[in-house]
Amino acid sequence: MPDPVPDTEDSIKVCRQFCGSCPSFKPNKLNEIEPHALFCSRGKTDQHLSEIKDNGCFCFGCGIFEKYELEGGWFCIYGKEGKK
Ligand code: SF4
Ligand code: SF4
Repeated sequence: MPDPVPDTEDSIKVCRQFCGSCPSFKPNKLNEIEPHALFCSRGKTDQHLSEIKDNGCFCFGCGIFEKYELEGGWFCIYGKEGKK
């Protein structure tokens, strides 16, 4: 079972490296729309899902993904539970 990811400045710093460089992030303007980042903690983006082009997910290389035993990835699209 994944552990809950704390919404802290440290988590955001790590997330910026991975979501920040992910090809699905900036091209879809996810940084400009709530909750901006840390989707594994905050849940999916408020961007309309029909307007999001899936260009892959960098969560699998992220230390938070490993530390909290997360599953699925694409938390910006599928929410905290990730892609099934
Ligand atoms: S697992 Fe993904 S959403 Fe969560 S902090 Fe890492 S890059 Fe961001
Ligand atoms: S949650 Fe995954 S797919 Fe979404 S922006 Fe972050 S790294 Fe990319």
